[in-house]
Order: sequence, then structure tokens, then C-alpha cells
Amino acid sequence: MIYKEHNVSSRKSIALVAHDNKKGELVKWSLRHQEKLQGHELYATGTTGRILEKELSMPVTKFISGPLGGDQQIGALISECKLDLLVFFWDPFEPMPHDPDVKALLRIAAVWNIPVACNQSSADYIFSSDLLGLSHNRQVPDYDSYLQQRTL
Ligand code: PGA
Repeated sequence: MIYKEHNVSSRKSIALVAHDNKKGELVKWSLRHQEKLQGHELYATGTTGRILEKELSMPVTKFISGPLGGDQQIGALISECKLDLLVFFWDPFEPMPHDPDVKALLRIAAVWNIPVACNQSSADYIFSSDLLGLSHNRQVPDYDSYLQQRTL
């Protein structure tokens, strides 16, 4: 894969998702980081978004619920470089009907090289990084070069 630089704004677009047994953890984590979250745009799957909006008293752009396709909507925006960071507290103890979507979201986040936190510790590390509040460049797949390679 050939990569190119993509500029990431100091005001990040952050996607937040939590499975049902993890929603409480995400709420507590978000309240701890509320001040930092306020400097960014928040996006979330349906139910997670509704809860966060109420608990944080902050606007959250809500997709449809995860099992109905919300994970896929987030993945689509990641592949358009419209989301910069994913906090995804998935549940390691419960099989999910939308496991393929969960896997697809994690895969697309890896493809597009965005920071992903799947638990509180990783999310704390990401939120203690200076990069969170800075404009910086991120390596992303160079789609034009990819297309040229494919047509050779
Ligand atoms: P929800 O979706 O926020 O609508 O509960 C999360 C998920 O299960 O992926």
C-alpha cells in the first residue's frame, strides 16, 4: 500500500461506541474527559449517542443503532477521512448479532490508520497525547496510486 499525508485538524471528529454492557464504562470515562471532549465534534451510534448527549450535555451526531447498521455508517466516514479517532468499548464477553459489523469497523479503522481505543486505559493514553489538541498529519492509503496499481 502506498500512503499519503492527510491533515488532521486540531478539532477532532471523534466516534464513540459502546456495547450495552460497556455503556456505563463509556459514560464514566466520558465524564472524566468531558473538558477535553468539549473541544471536539462527537459522533456515536444511536443508543450510545443518546446516552452521552444526556450525560455530557453536549451535542452528539447520532447514527442509527449499531445492530441496525450504525457501525457501518461510522466505518464509511472513516474511509472518507471524516472521522479522526474511534473510542469503541466492545464487549469481549458477549457474542453480538452484528459481530461482522464490529469486525469490519475495527478493520477499516486499521486500514485508515486512525487511533482506536477499545478500553479505558487505551482511551486514557490517547486522551493524554498532545496530538489530541494539535493539527498534525496522518498517513492514509493513497487511493489514486492504489487505483493505478490495480489497472496495471
Ligand atoms: P448502540 O450501538 O450505541 O446503538 O447501542 C452500539 C453497538 O452495538 O455497536
